[in-house]
Amino acid sequence: MALIVQKYGGTSVGSTEQIKNVACRIAKFQSLGHQLVVVVSAMSGETNRLLALAKETQDNPNPRELDVMVSTGEQVSIALLSMALIEMGFKARSYTGAQVRIHTDNAYNKARIIKIDEDKLRADLDAGYIVVVAGFQGVDETGSITTLGRGGSDTTGVALAAALKAKECQIYTDVDGVYTTDPRIVPEARRLKTVTFEEMMELASLGSKVLQIRSVEFAGKYKVRLRVLSSFEEGGEGTLITFEEDENMEQAIISGIAFNHDEAKITVLGVPDRPGIAYQILGPVADANVDVDMIIQNVGYDGTTDFSFTVHRNEFSRTMDILKSKVIPHIGARDVVGGDSIAKVSIVGVGMRSYVGIASKMFRALAEEGINIQMISTSEIRISVIVDEKYMELAVRVLHKSFDLDQTP
Ligand code: ASP
Ligand code: MG
Repeated sequence: MALIVQKYGGTSVGSTEQIKNVACRIAKFQSLGHQLVVVVSAMSGETNRLLALAKETQDNPNPRELDVMVSTGEQVSIALLSMALIEMGFKARSYTGAQVRIHTDNAYNKARIIKIDEDKLRADLDAGYIVVVAGFQGVDETGSITTLGRGGSDTTGVALAAALKAKECQIYTDVDGVYTTDPRIVPEARRLKTVTFEEMMELASLGSKVLQIRSVEFAGKYKVRLRVLSSFEEGGEGTLITFEEDENMEQAIISGIAFNHDEAKITVLGVPDRPGIAYQILGPVADANVDVDMIIQNVGYDGTTDFSFTVHRNEFSRTMDILKSKVIPHIGARDVVGGDSIAKVSIVGVGMRSYVGIASKMFRALAEEGINIQMISTSEIRISVIVDEKYMELAVRVLHKSFDLDQTP
């Protein structure tokens, strides 16, 4: 007998019919003798509907009130799932985040879990109940409801698995695992049997939407065995997120290709090449709470240099305004230019650590298709390039092919 945490996403509980299907699936696990804690998201579309209501009422919805409201989506689905289980003759009981006491900080709309009271859950499990917990939410020390950011139910699942020392945390979703890349762009994309935790961190932060990045962080920190599976297909083994010390890992140099077009590129031209300049450019940007991603500074020539970086697309015009009004006149740079029709394409793989020539192989593949690289950044296990947005899909396809990702390693 093992304790397992299962999380079902919004598309898996999109209708009462689907909720009954999920209940059947849970019933099967329970009949194997497992103890089950089930985390659910709001029914698909519900969170968006609630957010829209808030916006109709207040331009910039009050963060505390927004959480009071948006957390109700999950409150509905946990009750429905419990009813479905009870109807089938099982003992089931649902809890909101505040009822469990999933303690979080007070950063409304993006709170972090601090601690979970597990006594109630354990007592229910020991009494034979299937425990159903609302994803995406918690409560701060003043008793106010908080939510964990979009996709936050994944994090609830992993955090509960960590707190209860569950054998495994299973994330059931509308895809049957983590793929080498998005199959909608590359039909030959393959499901990965395993992916390392570090690779998953990179993939999640680079645009893969399968798991909320905080859930992966949590799994890494508490060494939670995490698996992504389909809630629509029976019997699949999904993708297991492994730690590098685990055996039987797939040995590929590159595990996956991520892409996004969420960013915009900004270049400050003719920057005087002197100490403190990077700080003078990025300081005011950071003060305005704008996250900066890639940063490139050229070697100086004739006393000046160019300084480029990327920001989220939503922050593009605000950042340009800051630079034009607060930075350029002060540092005496020539101009600032930028554009948001860019895309970031990244190859990710822990195998990169032990092979040379991965970057040149990537650059050659792109060159052969005439795709110009505008910026490059790397980590130990990742190489990202910025290209014109119109070449994004082509770049992903070409790289998928050149690194033989369509073939089982
Ligand atoms: N319902 C929330 C959302 O749509 C949380 C989740 O589904 O993970 O973002
Ligand atoms: Mg999700």
